[in-house]
Amino acid sequence: MRIPLDRDDERPLYRQIQEFLRQEILTGALQEGTRLPSTRGLASELGVSRITVSNAYAELEVEGLIYTRLGSGTYVAPGVERILRDREKETGLDHWPPWQQNLVHDSPLYASSKRDRTRALMSAADGTISFAPGIGAKEVYPIRGFLAAVQNVLRRDGSEAMSYGEIEGYQPLRATVSHILSSQGIPTYPEDVLITSGSQQAIALVAHLLLRRGDSVLLENPTYSGAMMVFRALGVRMVGIPVDQGGMKVESAETLLRKAHPSLIYTVPTFHNPTGTCLSTDRRHQLIQLAERYNVPVVEDEFAGDLRYGGQSKPAFKTLDPGGMVIYIGTFSKVLMPALRIGYIVASGPVLKLLQERKQMTDLGTSTLIQRALETYITVGRYESYLNRARRVYRERRDAMEAAIRTYMPEGTTWTSPDGGLFIWLQLPEGLSSSDLYPVAVQQGVSYAPGALFFHDAEDSSYMRLNFALHPSETIGEGILRLGRAVDLYRDMSQT
Ligand code: PMP
Repeated sequence: MRIPLDRDDERPLYRQIQEFLRQEILTGALQEGTRLPSTRGLASELGVSRITVSNAYAELEVEGLIYTRLGSGTYVAPGVERILRDREKETGLDHWPPWQQNLVHDSPLYASSKRDRTRALMSAADGTISFAPGIGAKEVYPIRGFLAAVQNVLRRDGSEAMSYGEIEGYQPLRATVSHILSSQGIPTYPEDVLITSGSQQAIALVAHLLLRRGDSVLLENPTYSGAMMVFRALGVRMVGIPVDQGGMKVESAETLLRKAHPSLIYTVPTFHNPTGTCLSTDRRHQLIQLAERYNVPVVEDEFAGDLRYGGQSKPAFKTLDPGGMVIYIGTFSKVLMPALRIGYIVASGPVLKLLQERKQMTDLGTSTLIQRALETYITVGRYESYLNRARRVYRERRDAMEAAIRTYMPEGTTWTSPDGGLFIWLQLPEGLSSSDLYPVAVQQGVSYAPGALFFHDAEDSSYMRLNFALHPSETIGEGILRLGRAVDLYRDMSQT
């Protein structure tokens, strides 16, 4: 393939290749289904490194113009005309009314960044072993039990189950949540529980109630990207605290509390997303004392706290709460199924009433049918036995992933060894960029969540988040083998 390259051009070589191929595809010179040359072939033909060609292909893949079929090659994608039209609508704003144009200019989320491109790449990956999602294994979902629960509820409650319900949530489900939490050592009253549509809504409700544009929030850095999205959209300044094996380095919190006057502390203290670490008991005590002294509420996001496979459990902030300082957030998404969209807030004091009002304004309450079905499905005993099953499966998978990393990843790779949750946080050797490695990994048939997604202040990172719970052990082994191969290849390509 003759691609004219100009080494004096200020555009990088990969961009020149990308733009040439894009032009060929959009004019129809390269038709749907046409196989593109291999990265190796094209690189040697053009006298450039393979990484240059890989980057060009990765960009075209993000644009939806080409796709890679594992073990077969890279092809021109179907539906290019539609993509063209959609893109024109997205990028050209001039034909939209001014209020829409202003919306885009004012939105902190709209701006395209390397992070967004990485996110797009994650969804473009096809036919790969993906360690990227933040969910449990589908084969563990109790589908049959839940089907029976829905049928029972409809038989028992009829149209009641199809009506609006109480804003604060279905009372028997709130009672079940408080029983479960109390049985886990977090004494809770049903009156203090507000059922939400997933814990994402819980984070959004709390943030909208407590934060205003220009406020600051203290959080782990890295942290859960969905929470950062909420803070970013609100125009809130994120003040990050680094994380080590013992979770957030609380030692630096006091200075930041004094300097930044945050309005809220957001923390994922147990099996932290993305690092898998647990905040040590001492640090929990220190942080709650600081929160009280500086009068800053603590939002405790316990998204997977029950998925423990080893180690000692630590006291929840909620149990250390001297009274009214902690807003506890939980979810059934990781332990049961994300499609339930059932999460909850546990809080006491006037803040709970105000959160209920916000909930009412937002959606008039979480699905009555699903709340009732979940309540009939879940008793404390059933929850425990389900948890035990999930724990057994996930523990084995965590061990399988660690063994595979030891076997297949190059020397210098480091990673966290979590006592629970879903994630291993892996650092590539010699500070290699996990975002730059990404297209090569996808071409090798494996994907992950690049570390840059989880830092509020970094466009690049040598870390990646790997979900160990998703796949059976053999698939994990194969996926990590591919990842190791991708690193080798990436290093070779960078040296060419
Ligand atoms: N908190 C954390 C730390 C998460 O990882 C997630 C989802 N990945 C959520 C909250 C939101 O989950 P959901 O809305 O499904 O409860």
